[in-house]
Amino acid sequence: MDIDNMVQNSALVRAREGGGSKGRSWKWREMLRFPHISECRELAKTIERNYDDLCVKQPIGKKLFQLYCMTRPELHNHMGLLDALEQFETKEDKERKSFGFSIIQRFMNPQAIQFVPLLAKYEQSCRESLELSPCEDVFHTCREALHEYLSQEPFTEYQFSMHFDRFLQWKKLERKPITKHTFREYRLLGKGGFGEVWACQVRATGKMYACKKLEKTHVKKWQGEHMALNEKELLEEVDSRFVVNLAYAYETKHALCLVLTMMSGGDLRFHIHNMGEPGLEKNRVYFYAAEVCCGLIHLHQKSIVYRDLKPENILLDDNGHIRISDLGLAVKLQDGDLVQGRVGTLYYMAPEVITKEKYDMSADWWGLGCLIYEMIEGRSPFRAPGERPKSSEMEKRITSKKLQFSDKFSREAVDICQGLLQRNPKYRLGCRGSGGREVKSHPFFRLINFRMLEAGQVKAPFTPDPRLVYCDDVQDIEEFSTLRGVVLNQTDSEFYAKFNTGSVPRSWQNELIETGCFEELNVFGPKGSRPADLDW
Ligand code: ADP
Ligand code: MG
Ligand code: MG
Repeated sequence: MDIDNMVQNSALVRAREGGGSKGRSWKWREMLRFPHISECRELAKTIERNYDDLCVKQPIGKKLFQLYCMTRPELHNHMGLLDALEQFETKEDKERKSFGFSIIQRFMNPQAIQFVPLLAKYEQSCRESLELSPCEDVFHTCREALHEYLSQEPFTEYQFSMHFDRFLQWKKLERKPITKHTFREYRLLGKGGFGEVWACQVRATGKMYACKKLEKTHVKKWQGEHMALNEKELLEEVDSRFVVNLAYAYETKHALCLVLTMMSGGDLRFHIHNMGEPGLEKNRVYFYAAEVCCGLIHLHQKSIVYRDLKPENILLDDNGHIRISDLGLAVKLQDGDLVQGRVGTLYYMAPEVITKEKYDMSADWWGLGCLIYEMIEGRSPFRAPGERPKSSEMEKRITSKKLQFSDKFSREAVDICQGLLQRNPKYRLGCRGSGGREVKSHPFFRLINFRMLEAGQVKAPFTPDPRLVYCDDVQDIEEFSTLRGVVLNQTDSEFYAKFNTGSVPRSWQNELIETGCFEELNVFGPKGSRPADLDW
């Protein structure tokens, strides 16, 4: 192995191990120093006062609102209940009933010490649905009622508290411009159509990410502006543990950069084809297929068709969970519309895409069929390994070749592949009215507990080795050069400004919390008094 590659790999492995406080710059406190509250006046005037956004969706906002509520003894029980409801979501099936009843006992019974009066009227219905179907979202209406209550007077008062002022300081930090100096760079991970992808680490927090660079000259030469912005905007909109997450979008002199969840376990193509006998063990097949299915359902709920499902685009993280990546070809459908356009990778294209008909989510369910097939058989359904058929030949096979199933396929596996690989999208599994729900309830997934999977409570069947770097050696990844003769002008700058929006609030706040920076910095004065930086 090449020395350079070894050096770069070990630097990356060390950075990953130290991820968290060890990876922070020694100047991290300086980098994250709160602006004085008087510098937040403008922000205070312009920030939208929306309870759900400020106190539920934004992770730091939620924490500060809860800290505020804890300063009011009459709200302690409400906070206790919110916390219990969150715990309920991650309970194992067999514990749901008893834990659910304990919630009712603690908070909904008028004799209980922690009684929350506004919920008394839901007691009976909660008992009944807990008895009947403990794995459903039993406390949905309670949670809504609780938030409705908190969004009134408590939220109003919160906005006059030092906790809200502190929230403004965090927001101000969040909005600091992002530049290449925000990050430390490690090795090259891969190459894409418009540029390279590098491992990087936020200096202030130590968090590792993958930075996908789109070279400005290449984007311009191939008119990729619309595509780049589309990818960025869709990434910003999605929020699923099964799709890569965007943390920052910024620009450098030469590139537009998307900073994404670091996926260090390699892609599924690598695991199917480069780790011994082609194909995957069956527990891994169920597990990956189920996670991809959840990712697709999330995208589809946002009216996004992914259009590029294939093993290369499914990446593993350190714990062996997968995420769908590369939203470059994804499109958002305007209400009820269909799209047309032959995009994707020919080997994995659905028949209706190939024949240039209008289509919708159906293309992705076909893609899932191809993926499951390939994970089991170790080769894609319409192409032998290493074979490069002409495109006319591929089209013929996809639109008319009968599928062959070896004895590696169980009865359920054959059935789900046949369902998903139905040529007519009208009859395809996932496209017959109930959408992804029908796919999840297929017997192929009988061993998967989707509720727990979506709550992030299922352990992956395979964990990547933390000392390995699952990607090509650096010297084997072709170099990406700046094109000569492409001139960048004012119109380009306007487009770059649209792209360069900096931190994505939800991701940035999670990063600060996960790395412990939030906890260490978010201190107030003695006995909860206002510290100097919050003194108006
Ligand atoms: P393109 O849209 O140009 O094809 P991709 O998003 O597919 O670019 O990225 C190119 C390559 O970079 C991938 O094949 C993979 O090797 C690597 N890569 C992309 N995203 C990540 C990530 N989040 N974590 C680790 N590696 C990644
Ligand atoms: Mg790609
Ligand atoms: Mg792409």
